[in-house]
Amino acid sequence: MGKLALHWKILIGMTTGVVFALVLGRFSWGSQWIADWIKPLGIVFINALKMIAIPLILGSLIKGISDLKDISKLSKMGFQTIGLYLITTVFAVCLGLVLVNIMQPGKAISEDTRNELINNYGGEVEAAQSHAQQQKNVSPLQPIVDIVPENIVNASSNNTNMLQIIFFALFFGVCIILIPEETARPVKTFFDGFNAVILKMVDVIMMAAPVGVFALLAGLIVDAPNKDLMAALLIYSVCILIGLSLMILLYNLLIWIFTGKSPRFFMKGMSSVQLLAFSTSSSAATLPLTMDRVERRLGVDNEVTSFVLPIGATVNMDGTSLYQAVAAVFIAQAFGMDLSLSTQMGIVVTATLASIGTAAIPSAGIVMLLIVLAQAGIPEAGLALILAVDRPLDMCRTVVNVSGDAAVSMLVAKSIGKLDEVSDE
Ligand code: ASP
Repeated sequence: MGKLALHWKILIGMTTGVVFALVLGRFSWGSQWIADWIKPLGIVFINALKMIAIPLILGSLIKGISDLKDISKLSKMGFQTIGLYLITTVFAVCLGLVLVNIMQPGKAISEDTRNELINNYGGEVEAAQSHAQQQKNVSPLQPIVDIVPENIVNASSNNTNMLQIIFFALFFGVCIILIPEETARPVKTFFDGFNAVILKMVDVIMMAAPVGVFALLAGLIVDAPNKDLMAALLIYSVCILIGLSLMILLYNLLIWIFTGKSPRFFMKGMSSVQLLAFSTSSSAATLPLTMDRVERRLGVDNEVTSFVLPIGATVNMDGTSLYQAVAAVFIAQAFGMDLSLSTQMGIVVTATLASIGTAAIPSAGIVMLLIVLAQAGIPEAGLALILAVDRPLDMCRTVVNVSGDAAVSMLVAKSIGKLDEVSDE
């Protein structure tokens, strides 16, 4: 087992977790036993990954920025990163809209199924509604206000404040460049060492990945909702899965055209990251591994990964934006509404913004979907229609979210001459 590549170990962990839960779930005591004794191991694994997310961003971003010789490189990188993130997100939403209009999955939902779904999941919708309401009642400039923390220690105590940590680390890193080299040296040396320690922690935590994903998948299987209702949502799920697969295809194409690297190179380098994103449903929990693999396997310099990836994990969610577009139109179709072209154009804007505002954690996308629904005048109770299949789709869209970040980091690295040669063994 020691010599096996990480993605194989993760895959074996996932498969055995599913089989184990399916077998034990047949006994009356099985599901409870898994919930009591196996699921917590998965939570420990995710927590360990989340635990190092903030130190990783701090260490890596401060090191990456302070290694830059001049600030102009940072602004070039910044513009390219934000530009590419926006373009890919808008493309994803449009792709989702095209697919959902062609496949019309909502028309396949009968009135009985619709009522049954709403009865089953109505309670969960209310919880999501009140959460989304808090996000809606704020000034349009609130996202900018939220980026600047009033207290850095408080900001570091909450994983959802990643943009605040990024802001602080960027500012700190830039100021290291602005002070005399002699004075800056001890601070730089400290952060170089700090960063190396955190990367080692990632390696050590990943040794537990096979067991971690085993527990996560086993826990998910025993919690899975009614299979009949899930089957009713098959066309909707297939529509999203086709869109997500096309996004992966697009990344490979862009990388091939602009960097000359083959799809095999990209997919092989990213395989363990994608499997971890699938198992954890969290771009934030996957971030430590994403940074490690994009540097070591895809050859992107630390100067680029430390900047592009933490920002991407927080704001760039192509999978989520595509899903929000499909889900919104699907719900409208299921309620017999025909959405006009201008309403669908509005969805392009709101789904792009909602995906930027979505936290990099499980199920965050469905909460922000409420904002898209409200804006387009689609009944919010319709959220109940899609809850049954949300977790598996969340796992898949998270794979696309992290792949999009990695693809953009390769494109940015290529354009500023920071893409190293890595052999494709
Ligand atoms: N789970 C997704 C992520 O972490 C966000 C979402 O719910 O769409 O990237």
